[in-house]
Amino acid sequence: MDDPVRVAERRAVGFPVPWFEIPDWRDRYGVVAGVTGRGDADDPFDLGLASAAPIGAVLNRWRALHRAFPQFQGTVLARQVHGATVLWHEARPGWTIFEGADGHATAGASLLLAVSLADCVPIFVVDPVRRAVALLHSGWRGTAAGILAAGIAELTRRGSRAGDLIVHAGVGICGACYQVGAEVATACGEPPPGADPVRLDLRRVIARQARAEGVGAVTVSSWCSAHDHGSFMSHRASGGRDGRMVALLGLIP
Ligand SMILES: [Zn+2]
Repeated sequence: MDDPVRVAERRAVGFPVPWFEIPDWRDRYGVVAGVTGRGDADDPFDLGLASAAPIGAVLNRWRALHRAFPQFQGTVLARQVHGATVLWHEARPGWTIFEGADGHATAGASLLLAVSLADCVPIFVVDPVRRAVALLHSGWRGTAAGILAAGIAELTRRGSRAGDLIVHAGVGICGACYQVGAEVATACGEPPPGADPVRLDLRRVIARQARAEGVGAVTVSSWCSAHDHGSFMSHRASGGRDGRMVALLGLIP
């Protein structure tokens, strides 16, 4: 199989929060699409609502993040459960946290979709024709459960054509850094390996799933949250000590 095209999110210089954006998507598709970075080594930009960090500091970082995107009136997030549930949202003001979902989709301009991460892969889906977007949190469980297919189904149910969709599998752990049991690899559709442990490239699996769904174009991030631990949060590379970064996707009004 062809390797997916690799694209590196670019660090925004002079931005009020640590922020890495998918190059050209803002101009080409009229979206904000990217992920927060680690930020200051001594005071990481931890956005984890369930992190061990003091909640007041976490909420202040969320406020700074909201202020950095003044074009957007609302943000939606959910408590993530490594499943394949994708919520459809109409545009709504303010900050709303839903229960038990790993994906969000909208055609509403001015609404930012958010998922939190530390090694799991954020999948960005844009329909530039119908102007709709989906943002999915895809660790191995979500990848195996088919959250990408669920996100695409949510968009096509509302009028998108799969061939118009652009998919980017963003900053997450790379295959070299992600050692898993054989059952995890086979759950993700990889051929049965000879023996444990297996190195699983989630983004390669996601790219293959995207092609099987007939999407128009697929890219994968060349960043690895563990290799590039100085720039991003990594659950594995930190021995579980890191907080969470946040991916955002929204249609610019
Ligand atoms: Zn790596």
